[in-house]
Amino acid sequence: MNKKSNSIDAQQNPRPNHETGDRQASQMVERDATWDAFVRALAEPHIVDSADRSGLDALPIRYPRLFMNEPLPWGLQIGAGWTHLVTVLCARIDALLRQAPSARFHLHQVKEKFGGLRFYYETHGAPENIKQAIRKAVEQAILVSHECCERCGAMGAKRYSSGYLVTLCPRCASTL
Ligand SMILES: [Zn+2]
Repeated sequence: MNKKSNSIDAQQNPRPNHETGDRQASQMVERDATWDAFVRALAEPHIVDSADRSGLDALPIRYPRLFMNEPLPWGLQIGAGWTHLVTVLCARIDALLRQAPSARFHLHQVKEKFGGLRFYYETHGAPENIKQAIRKAVEQAILVSHECCERCGAMGAKRYSSGYLVTLCPRCASTL
């Protein structure tokens, strides 16, 4: 009838017929019960001693397929508070890779930037749905990192420390 009613129709029907393959793959992932379990596991608070990096150091041993080119050139450049977050992410990627036995995964860098997780990697020979599922898992972990204290793993928020944006809980922030 007019432009306004068309736009309302579009909002009420958010699934156009010309969906891309990627979007379809993403919806397949969303229907996957393991995705829900992954999201729940990421959100579980796991408080750690900020000096205890044993969980991070153990990742290449627990998930050798993700650390084929280990050691990482710069190591895991994140605080111990994100140990649980990154472990759950690695477990998810490892499980997805088991569905693609011939695929290769190269982790290049894991670091913090602007208070959020950065997880740089490449996949080779993985089917599109697996690549999409890995991308989605990484995006979810990044999202959660913005509310997870990088020092201790408690619920945190963005704040400035010495001019840098970091994600810390109130207790860790008070010791800056
Ligand atoms: Zn903290």
